[in-house]
Amino acid sequence: MSVGPDEEPLLAVRDLEVVFHTEREEIHAVDGVSFDIHEGETVGLVGESGSGKSVTARSILGLVDSPGSIEGGKIGFRGDDLTDDNWERHRGDIAIVFQDPSNSLNPVYTVGNQIKEALRIHQGIRGNEATERAVGLLEDVGIPDPRRRVEEYPHQLSGGMQQRAVIAMALACDPDLLVCDEPTTALDVTIQAQILDLLADLQREEDLAILFITHDMGVIEDATDRVNVIYAGEIVERAPTGMLFSEPAHPYTEALLRSIPGRTNAADRLPTIEGEVPTPTGQAEDCRFAPRCPYAFAECHETPPEHVDVGAERSAACLLHEDGSEEAAERTVFDGSEAVSGGDSA
Ligand code: SF4
Repeated sequence: MSVGPDEEPLLAVRDLEVVFHTEREEIHAVDGVSFDIHEGETVGLVGESGSGKSVTARSILGLVDSPGSIEGGKIGFRGDDLTDDNWERHRGDIAIVFQDPSNSLNPVYTVGNQIKEALRIHQGIRGNEATERAVGLLEDVGIPDPRRRVEEYPHQLSGGMQQRAVIAMALACDPDLLVCDEPTTALDVTIQAQILDLLADLQREEDLAILFITHDMGVIEDATDRVNVIYAGEIVERAPTGMLFSEPAHPYTEALLRSIPGRTNAADRLPTIEGEVPTPTGQAEDCRFAPRCPYAFAECHETPPEHVDVGAERSAACLLHEDGSEEAAERTVFDGSEAVSGGDSA
């Protein structure tokens, strides 16, 4: 879906800072992250492991545990700043689906009882009405024979069915925003496709806004309207999904796209991004992607890039996009046919 620029976002994350204090160092896991989600929209947050995606998700739900804490920024939701201790007030309005459904379900309670608990807490629905709603929710998420399944325990369900049951529990809160944190990563590809279809159907039917968090660019392409690419705690590119895939503006996005199977002409080996995501232990003093970037030049190691508009509703944090950058002229836009070269060694 497309949204007008003047429309008030449902969720407005601004300059979010989440810091983990360990004995040895401070880790700035989320470092100045900003993005919006509008009503009924699916927005992606994509990056490698350790990039800060899940910490961002947990921050929105108020689930950052010690030794981590939110130390800056705002999380606006329906006019309230959640970081001003407004999570309880909006507890049922935002629900989350985690990667591993077996961790979200309590093994000693039936699936039905867990859904009914959510209905009682968030909607005040009890007794027979709650049982009927639980059956209806299991039916809505595509679980066959829901009247039997509602009486079953999590171990009696397959992994795909468990994730559907977790989504039913999330819907029992009647949320406006569903945060999906790698919801298909623990599932095989067939079940993954079914869960993606289910989320798309639910979004249309319920007019849900969805924040889709994943490392999988294929999932992002299938499931989202807009994308935020996150690297080492920072958003490095934001764009409508189609544009990001056809003409990525940030070298990290290019590299992620090249590593999707089937998108390059590389005959024998799938290109990978060499090196690892650095752990941000302080304020950025350079471009954190520079050690891995095939386009890096001297200034990249001395100057943290700011976001620059690179088109309608698009921006990228890369010095190549700054006015007058000589290096930009030499850069070629990814067309899916070349392999990534290594970064410089400065
Ligand atoms: S600022 Fe430099 S190192 Fe960073 S992504 Fe852009 S070209 Fe690469």
